[in-house]
Amino acid sequence: MPDKKFSMNGFSSVAVHGGHKKDPNYAHLVPVYASSTYVYDTAEQGMRRFSGEEEGYIYARWGNPTVSEAEEKIAALEAFDLNLDLKGILHSSGMAAIATLMLGTLKTGGKILTHYSLYGGTEELLQKVLPGLGITAVIADLRQIDKVEDLIKGDKGIKMMYLETPANPTIQCIDLQDLSAIAKRHNLIVACDNTFATPYLQQPFKYDVDFVVHSTTKFLNGHGTAIGGCLIGRDIEKMNTIITKTHRLLGGSASPFDAFLLINGMKTLELRMERHCSNAAAVAGHLEKHTFIEKVNYAGLLSHADHATAMKQMKHPGAMMSFEVKGGLQSGIDFMNKLQMCVRTVSLGTCDTLLSHPASMTHYGVPKEQREQYGITDGLIRMNVGIEDVNDIINDLEQALS
Ligand code: PLP
Repeated sequence: MPDKKFSMNGFSSVAVHGGHKKDPNYAHLVPVYASSTYVYDTAEQGMRRFSGEEEGYIYARWGNPTVSEAEEKIAALEAFDLNLDLKGILHSSGMAAIATLMLGTLKTGGKILTHYSLYGGTEELLQKVLPGLGITAVIADLRQIDKVEDLIKGDKGIKMMYLETPANPTIQCIDLQDLSAIAKRHNLIVACDNTFATPYLQQPFKYDVDFVVHSTTKFLNGHGTAIGGCLIGRDIEKMNTIITKTHRLLGGSASPFDAFLLINGMKTLELRMERHCSNAAAVAGHLEKHTFIEKVNYAGLLSHADHATAMKQMKHPGAMMSFEVKGGLQSGIDFMNKLQMCVRTVSLGTCDTLLSHPASMTHYGVPKEQREQYGITDGLIRMNVGIEDVNDIINDLEQALS
């Protein structure tokens, strides 16, 4: 990392160099520090480390140099051009980061206000695990901004507003600026899951949010090589105390090898996102005109209900979309089976184009009426548009639709 006198002005410069410290053995890249514990020259030094008088690593669940570099790089990217000091804590998964956020900030009786279109794992945490600890969710349509303030005024238990935008699988977008402003008027903690957008496309801290979470498994890693998550906060004191304590005691620490893969993946974030997004725009435009397609949900299309919100807060409308093939469940299955180059799988954020069919995969077993309320129809296909040659992506989809 250049010294303080040199200021890096471009996003990719921060993505490449951010968080890097000169290695004591002059290795070019940060090594994978595969060590579970750290030694002290003397007992007195051990005492100074434990008391916090001397900085240094103690035990790898608490911290690791490879993990630290990944944390500092993510924090630098979320803070890019915002003149903010942020702290990131890397976790073993996105869910571990979300669990630290909720358990580290809320007490029994606390309620989380959130939008109904949410990553399934987060929803299950809210519905099935946290209620056992007395923390519950208030789920609403946060796109109806005029109703949100009354909802908060009417329920003093609400302590956190949890936002995820764009969200699965219909790519709904909610207004970070307006929602965060309302939440702040009522002293709520505001958190945002920025997984689908990444800090290259969207910076929630611009809108005064307190925390950002990522499943780094997705676009930040970018190559599908490791599960990971990060919790980033602007209140450094809180991050260094209760959040760090919660993270260390819940034990969802990241592996140094996964952190190493993540660091290298993040260096190309801007390049990948530019290509992901231009490919996605071309694919969405093509599919929207297709006779076998009922509907395309892509925030970059004028026909998308939240197009204006996406354009207000995102640099480009992202790489995620979903579309409905005509003919219901069997047409969805047939389409998936015919794919040649594009890959049949869940997850997202990788270089290759990935498609999933929620009705036969992630939402198999969810009653049809229930999933249809969330826009998950029988023929709905979710797609992460990759960085391959866009003509090959379109040709593969075209032959699978024929
Ligand atoms: N948030 C979003 C938006 C996700 O899509 C996911 C996983 O798909 C998660 C959080 C959870 O992340 P992980 O699978 O890394 O625990």
